[in-house]
Amino acid sequence: MTKIIDSHMHCGIQNVDQPIELIRTYLDRGGIQGACLYAPVEDIYDRHDYDFEDTPFWMACRQRANDYLLELQQTGEDIYAYYFVWNDFKKEELQKGYRGIKWHRHEYEPVYHYDDPECEEFLQEAYRLQLPIVLEESFENTRYFIERVAGRTPIIIPHMGGLNGGFSSLFRSGIWDNENVFADTALASTREMVIFLEKYGVEKLLFGSDFPFGIPYNELLKVKSLNLDETDFEKVAGKNILRLIRREEHK
Ligand SMILES: [Zn+2]
Repeated sequence: MTKIIDSHMHCGIQNVDQPIELIRTYLDRGGIQGACLYAPVEDIYDRHDYDFEDTPFWMACRQRANDYLLELQQTGEDIYAYYFVWNDFKKEELQKGYRGIKWHRHEYEPVYHYDDPECEEFLQEAYRLQLPIVLEESFENTRYFIERVAGRTPIIIPHMGGLNGGFSSLFRSGIWDNENVFADTALASTREMVIFLEKYGVEKLLFGSDFPFGIPYNELLKVKSLNLDETDFEKVAGKNILRLIRREEHK
């Protein structure tokens, strides 16, 4: 049996109380061996202020939040740190060993500076390192971003698009026709998973919980209830995400 990996969990100890010890407890209870960890949005920028501009205070907070995960990755088995990027686009951070990138914004939250040349340089570095990008953005920006990246590195749409404009809209728009665009199951319905699997098969679906918004045990139960055969279940539960984050090792 391959390991089960929760591909979407938030872990942080500054503006939220979600230390690795808590993460481990939830993983153990779910019979889950590993996790991809992202910082909580609360440690990255002030999401409640649409006109928010970066400050040294927030930059330091963000740095500590990302550093914490990198340290956990170095000491913990099957812990994978993602770099949560914001408008300082620190591309040199990506070389420190992160396994993926978290890109997160909801409508009415402060916007990413897509036209900043440093944004482009950051993306180029992501392509070079083949780091998957977990993209949560508005519907328009999701489509824009996928077109811009154009398959040069994997993109994972969390919640099967639930917070990127909704599953149905994204499904109809055909974004998953791109072979390098994936979906995670966090907080999605089993009905959505069934529709997705019918069209795209098991290769593009990744189990995730979005802890603390979803409970790993419960979210995994939904995937189990799909009654996939063992090979297919193993792919969704862990193999697919491991393939994406371990590309470097296979080169
Ligand atoms: Zn999340």
